Amino acid sequence: MTTGRGTAGVTNMTNSEGTWLAPEPTTLVLEPTSLCNLDCTYCYLPARKLKRDMSPNVAQAIADGIPPGWPSSGTLEVVWHGGEPLATGVSAMRELLAPFEELRRADRITHVIQTNATLISDQWCNLFSAYDMSIGVSIDGPPELTSNRVDWRGHPAFDRIVAGISKLRERNIHFSVIAVVDQASAGRAGELLDFVAATGCRYIGINLEEKEGANQHGGTPTIEQARRFWHDVFLWSNANPDMKIREVEHLLEYLALSPRSRAATVLHDPIPTIGWNGDTVLLSPELLGTHSSAFHDFVAGNVLTDSLQEIIDRGAELAYVQEFRGGVEACKAACEFFGHCQGAHAGNRFFEHGSFLATETEHCRTSTQAVVLALHDIQCERGPAR
Ligand code: SF4
Repeated sequence: MTTGRGTAGVTNMTNSEGTWLAPEPTTLVLEPTSLCNLDCTYCYLPARKLKRDMSPNVAQAIADGIPPGWPSSGTLEVVWHGGEPLATGVSAMRELLAPFEELRRADRITHVIQTNATLISDQWCNLFSAYDMSIGVSIDGPPELTSNRVDWRGHPAFDRIVAGISKLRERNIHFSVIAVVDQASAGRAGELLDFVAATGCRYIGINLEEKEGANQHGGTPTIEQARRFWHDVFLWSNANPDMKIREVEHLLEYLALSPRSRAATVLHDPIPTIGWNGDTVLLSPELLGTHSSAFHDFVAGNVLTDSLQEIIDRGAELAYVQEFRGGVEACKAACEFFGHCQGAHAGNRFFEHGSFLATETEHCRTSTQAVVLALHDIQCERGPAR
């Protein structure tokens, strides 16, 4: 998915015996609508052509279901994802945001919205400002690199995305970018990053195309392409320190830890993802709307009938969550990248291998291992420090 999700969805809490899932999340992912006005070739959402909108009573149940003790530190991120969240419409979105106002004003939650930017208008900008929303825009670089982002008639969305970005800039609303890189764009890191920097954005997360959900595009870069890509990203980052690149920041933060902290296993964030009808899945937003003979619909509960705490507590016992725990243990036993990776994302294991017990995935090779190896390559090129 194209959220700004962190490395492996983990918290910085120390593990304790018998506990592996964090008792509270740092992020709630919400689906205000299943509809998307675009049909990007690599999209993983199976129901993106259907308009099924979240009702205000589901939003109210989510807000009411946030326990008084959450968050125990910082703020809880409420990420409005989709579908395309702006396809909900301004007034409908305002109704969904209203139940969270008390929590927002108390600084207990903060809103994030991940958008393809094509529907941004002055009305949307007014809403972003009124609710102090953080904006993430999905764009993959200049027109040729963004050619996978098309509408339902197959027409390029690039001009409409740039128009949305221009509206944000006109209104002085800051935004971050999530970019997807496929085989065709993996050799063009500099072009992507130069383009994003020219938009005024100062934070980018880069997702190498993944095999997940409904995505049959199959443009995942090879490990060699990925390693070269991250190599170029590190060099660009070094020359452009004003731009923060999520994957670079994560690795540098990890390397700044003490050796003991680097070796620690941390608790996994359950990342509750709540669909338009209140159904909630854990561990990986991509599992929402997915069906499997072994794990059915992955739903751990529904916010209309269960509290979020109940959903997380009960969810920890579900077969797929337990199986993922086994996969993480296998990674811990076998993989030299485990400290930084912490077992990565559950969805990638399932979509690539059909099992959460699998360890290595194309995703972890290209998006975790290749980042570390690229930094190592650069250090080798530069030779020993004197
Ligand atoms: S095998 Fe992959 S998912 Fe597992 S710890 Fe290593 S890099 Fe991460």
